[in-house]
Amino acid sequence: MVGAEARREELKAVWQECQGCVSCPQLAATRTKVVFGAGHADADLMFVGEAPGANEDKQGLPFVGQAGRLLETLLSEIGLARGDVFIANALKCRPPGNRDPLPLEIQNCQGYLMRQLELIAPRVVCTLGNFSTKLLRGDPATGITRLHGREEVRTIGPRTVRLYPLYHPAAALYTPAMLEILRTDFARIPELLALPALDQPAPAVVAVPAAEIAEPEPDPEPDPEAQLGLF
Ligand code: URA
Repeated sequence: MVGAEARREELKAVWQECQGCVSCPQLAATRTKVVFGAGHADADLMFVGEAPGANEDKQGLPFVGQAGRLLETLLSEIGLARGDVFIANALKCRPPGNRDPLPLEIQNCQGYLMRQLELIAPRVVCTLGNFSTKLLRGDPATGITRLHGREEVRTIGPRTVRLYPLYHPAAALYTPAMLEILRTDFARIPELLALPALDQPAPAVVAVPAAEIAEPEPDPEPDPEAQLGLF
């Protein structure tokens, strides 16, 4: 695994690439901003939600509406803040009218999530709700009601992590019983973060042509760091 600074620079390049993504023509046509994700570029803890809503689409940042405020409250209850974690979504663009993400959209977008997992290199990944849980477990048949609060070691693309499915905060907003379950599940996160680091899969070896090493391209774009909200 390369150093944190190199991974952070690469994450900014992926952010840049994602800004112009048109893999899902309908989402590209209707979005205001791409919501790549935000937080600590070298976080031990990463959250993966479903897709941006109206507030996120306007601001270009994940979980900035009511569900985001609840997520922040739950984080503060375990002694963490947004800046300590990285927050992303399965989809980087808002589905119009907040409809459910389509399977093809999730598939189109999953390369970005895999790159985020590789470059942020979290130890614990909390999926929020059904969509990201089914995606990252690769099991569309088993839902969050059965899985929440049960950690499992999973190799997801380039990274072996402790995957910890949780109810989506939006689902807990108006259902006090679900909020209590979410709070109880959240309370175990520090324990998971304290577990020993997991062995990682061997990185894929990519041959880089000598010319590319000798003559790196200058960065033509302004630094995306502020927009990415990196800490
Ligand atoms: N719900 C999500 O799943 N993601 C967000 O960013 C906001 C709400």
